Amino acid sequence: MASSSGSGRSLGTQELRWRRHGDSHGDSSSPIPYREGPLEYTPVVLCKYGAKAARFISWSDLNTGLRYLKCARAHDGGCDFYNWVDPPNSSFKKQLLLDLRDAVKYWKHATGVAEQSLKDARMETTRLLEGATRENQRLQLQLEGTTRENQRLQLELEGAVRYNEDRGAMFVAARRDVAIMQAELQLGAESRVELEVRIGTLEKERKLLFGALFVCVGLVAASWMPWIM
Ligand SMILES: [Zn+2]
Repeated sequence: MASSSGSGRSLGTQELRWRRHGDSHGDSSSPIPYREGPLEYTPVVLCKYGAKAARFISWSDLNTGLRYLKCARAHDGGCDFYNWVDPPNSSFKKQLLLDLRDAVKYWKHATGVAEQSLKDARMETTRLLEGATRENQRLQLQLEGTTRENQRLQLELEGAVRYNEDRGAMFVAARRDVAIMQAELQLGAESRVELEVRIGTLEKERKLLFGALFVCVGLVAASWMPWIM
């Protein structure tokens, strides 16, 4: 990058900006990148303070496509040096350049809008994806919690079933014991009835024997009566 302007303090970045946008402080910014940097021309033209003037292309409605020279530091405390390089264009070329300028600006703007939309859509997609990922993680945790709770309830249920089975077995055993005791009780009752019958028989025999004894005693007494009286 040739520069004979003396102090090149910020001309490096300034030169890059000029190449991209042209002299955006003065005229309309350039719709196309500069093919040649504003300080790369020859022969050198100096501004009022003896520094190399910068050469730009005008994209204004009046002078579109015409090159001009201007103090390289015009917007940074420089001088007011200003000179046209090219003669005015024919009205046809002027209109053609204006139409081309406007077409490029339109498509640049449209591309910018489309790029912004695309960027917004990507950000929105990322945001939605992150949200969905977070929601999935939350549901995954919830599922794990529910699974653990189900396992716990399953174990509890199995314990309760085992407990019931034990109780059932105990109940069956108790019923068996009750049945045995009832059978024993029945046998006891039957024995008692049998004994009562035997006691009744013996009682009858005792009464008969007593009666017989009484009769015998009476007969003996009667046989002895004549001798006594
Ligand atoms: Zn100057």
